[in-house]
Amino acid sequence: MAITGLKRRQDGEPIEATRAARRTCGLAAIVSVSAAFVSVLLSAPTCAAGPGNADYAALREEMVSRQIEARGIRHPKVLAAMRKVERHLFVPEHLRKEAYGDHPLPIGEGQTISQPYIVALMTEVIAPHAGMKVLEIGTGSGYQAAVLAGLCKSVYTIEIVEVLGMRAQKLLSGLYGNVHVKIGDGYQGWPEAAPFDAVVVTCAPTKVPSPLVQQLAEGGRMVIPIGDAGFQELVVLTKQKGRLVQDRIVPVRFVPMVDSAGKTY
Ligand code: SAH
Repeated sequence: MAITGLKRRQDGEPIEATRAARRTCGLAAIVSVSAAFVSVLLSAPTCAAGPGNADYAALREEMVSRQIEARGIRHPKVLAAMRKVERHLFVPEHLRKEAYGDHPLPIGEGQTISQPYIVALMTEVIAPHAGMKVLEIGTGSGYQAAVLAGLCKSVYTIEIVEVLGMRAQKLLSGLYGNVHVKIGDGYQGWPEAAPFDAVVVTCAPTKVPSPLVQQLAEGGRMVIPIGDAGFQELVVLTKQKGRLVQDRIVPVRFVPMVDSAGKTY
């Protein structure tokens, strides 16, 4: 178990900024397999402290240049938002060191925070600007909502799992004044706050929910993963003269969009 855990941690931390700290922690972990008492002496002060804010800032910088810019995201404000939002605050404390890795992470309740690149891509394709009102379906950790909050006028986000929605609401309300969180079934959208200039769906239905189409403003864009569990296509839908124009972007894997009984839409 200890060895598996060590390997996973190394794989999930490809960033050089914390190399020194990681080496110390890695050494302590190896020692702890063979001699627990030595590991206590070596590891306690170094690993307990974990990365500091400067380390996290360096990790974010690496994340943006190696994972996001390198894959073609160019919108300067999206890149700035990805540099600014402290992703480690949105993951469980024991996974913070992995927060800037090139992969999704578990956030509890069987759900995940999306891979950083996918968050950047979904943000870029809606062409965010300061006047925009955005609806997000699937608040999860609140990270995507936080990225949008810095770029848009207001963000309305819906989460079906109450404990996740409450946790995200608490975190987001301490950081932003323009994010509204609702616990409920996002399939129905948020009719009282519609129309929305953009809709960002971060859980996957098998077809586009019609309430979300109705609540999208003329000229607005919806980015949504469509397909069965395990394999979906990320598509961008643009409402033009009341009709939807569809662009396929990339194959993705999101958690399914479910109803209150847990059945996939
Ligand atoms: N955007 C999130 C990642 C979301 S993971 C982030 O930045 O962390 C997808 C989320 O969609 C999960 O939290 C899941 O509970 C939620 N979800 C699934 N079906 C839903 C529905 N019908 N309405 C609202 N949220 C839903």
